[in-house]
Amino acid sequence: MASIHIPFHQKYRPKNLNDLIGQEIISLTLKQALLTNRIAPAYLFCGPRGTGKTSSARILAKSLNCQKYNDPNPQPCNKCELCKSISEGIALDIIEIDAASNTGVENIREIIEKARFAPTQARWKVYVIDECHMLSTAASNALLKTIEEPPANVIFILATTNPERVIKTIQSRCQKFDFKRISAEKIYKHLVDIANKESIIFEDIALQLIAKRSNGGMRDAQSLLDQLSLLPKGIEKSSVEELIGEVSENELLGLINSLVENNPEQLLKSCSKLYDSGNEPISILEGLLNITRDLLIKTNNSKYSEIFYTSKDFHHELDRISKLISKTKVISWHKNLKNIEYQIKTSNQPRLWLEINLTSLLDIKSTTDIKKTSDIKLNLDCSKTQNDQFKEKGKENNNLNPKNDEIKSKNNENKSEEKNTEISKDKNSIELKKIEQDTNTRTKYDESINLKEKWSLILSKLELPSTRMLLSQQAELLNIGKNSIEIGLSPNWENMIKSRKLIIENAVKKIFGENMKIYFSSKQKILSDIQKNNIQIRNDIKINQKPNDNFKKKTIPKEQNINENTKNLADFFNGEIVDIND
Ligand SMILES: [Zn+2]
Repeated sequence: MASIHIPFHQKYRPKNLNDLIGQEIISLTLKQALLTNRIAPAYLFCGPRGTGKTSSARILAKSLNCQKYNDPNPQPCNKCELCKSISEGIALDIIEIDAASNTGVENIREIIEKARFAPTQARWKVYVIDECHMLSTAASNALLKTIEEPPANVIFILATTNPERVIKTIQSRCQKFDFKRISAEKIYKHLVDIANKESIIFEDIALQLIAKRSNGGMRDAQSLLDQLSLLPKGIEKSSVEELIGEVSENELLGLINSLVENNPEQLLKSCSKLYDSGNEPISILEGLLNITRDLLIKTNNSKYSEIFYTSKDFHHELDRISKLISKTKVISWHKNLKNIEYQIKTSNQPRLWLEINLTSLLDIKSTTDIKKTSDIKLNLDCSKTQNDQFKEKGKENNNLNPKNDEIKSKNNENKSEEKNTEISKDKNSIELKKIEQDTNTRTKYDESINLKEKWSLILSKLELPSTRMLLSQQAELLNIGKNSIEIGLSPNWENMIKSRKLIIENAVKKIFGENMKIYFSSKQKILSDIQKNNIQIRNDIKINQKPNDNFKKKTIPKEQNINENTKNLADFFNGEIVDIND
């Protein structure tokens, strides 16, 4: 017949104050109180779950009531009737209440009422109110007077994981004990002890991992051990990782390595591998955060190995990596990773976010795969500063080569369009050509600003407001030579504007002198010329050439769906989306 298995956390619950793990000061203080018979009417036990609050309450109850002694004793026998019934939680005079389900003032009034009756079996009646922060304010207030002056031989032990939510008046009437998280080392030793007693086969590193991941709570660690002890092969590290959803440290360090080596391919492969083996993106992120934390400690040359999240087996690897990167780099990684936590938690595509953000941590400048584009970007930036130098060259070219003049006017025409340049990452020659053209274009930008100013000046000399209005909307200055200027006209308005040639000429002469001649050209012709001329060079990656307020941005229709990937790619290159080609 199958017997009921007693869970480890019950079976190995501390039996007296000496067994209480990780709470030495509390243990010492309570022992002293028992020995000197100075029992407080109310105690407040605060601390994270699984740190021994309820166990301590029961030990205290046994120490007060053990039938083996006539007085309170810190070493209860754990064998007498009372000790046994208290251990099992069935003693009549030891009343355990879960405040979470008894929050109301009526519940507390009932307790107060019953507290007036003398204990039936025990010497002391002990009320243990668990999660006491859940009591309503009215209930807490009702309790106040009783815990301050309880009936003879009645004590209250209030326990809470949220002491800040316990009203101050209650706190001030209790002796407060803060239960600390238990160190991983102490939990580990206790787990080894249990495993040996239970004849469980285990890998040392597996129990260390359980201890570390229990967040200082003994009960969680014991439960995990209990569950893992069912495995026929014994407790291995990999099974612990699987059970707690832990991401393999080996794989995580692989990810970190690809970041250090600036290897996007390896990075994405590692990501996929982790994801495919069942790890959630958020767990991968958490693992990375923990490792970067350890790396930060390492870069500070810390020798406190026991505070590392990463297992001892990987400390040499941490050591190696920490020598390859700067502290600033690690801090920046950590900061960036922390920032995407929310995105990953709330996104429908957490994997995508993780991959994109991890890729963005790569040092673009030295990444081989995207080096060329980043170089081009740099070149474009350079061309800004070298603009003047190129400008001279551009002017020369313009003078010598009539085709350049053509390009120039076309570029001027282009001003209503977004200056979006596509660059080939494969063909260096095209890149160079592009950069040259870009510089020429840039020169023309400056000239176009200049032309705009001159055009405004000409318009201001027009006496008739209607002509001024017409020209400002349907014409523009395209070129200024020594003795002539070229004005571009909207096709539909050509005839009307041409009919006012004399008026325009007069205005022009006022500024540039008597010898200045006017030539008109059609805007439509210019547009078609631009289409013929292959100024733009195709590429996968587009870089927004430069922000220039003089050029109206081409807006993407809202209904046009911008792929998240595209958006991120644009962000990645510090650019913006100006157009999308299929
Ligand atoms: Zn006893």
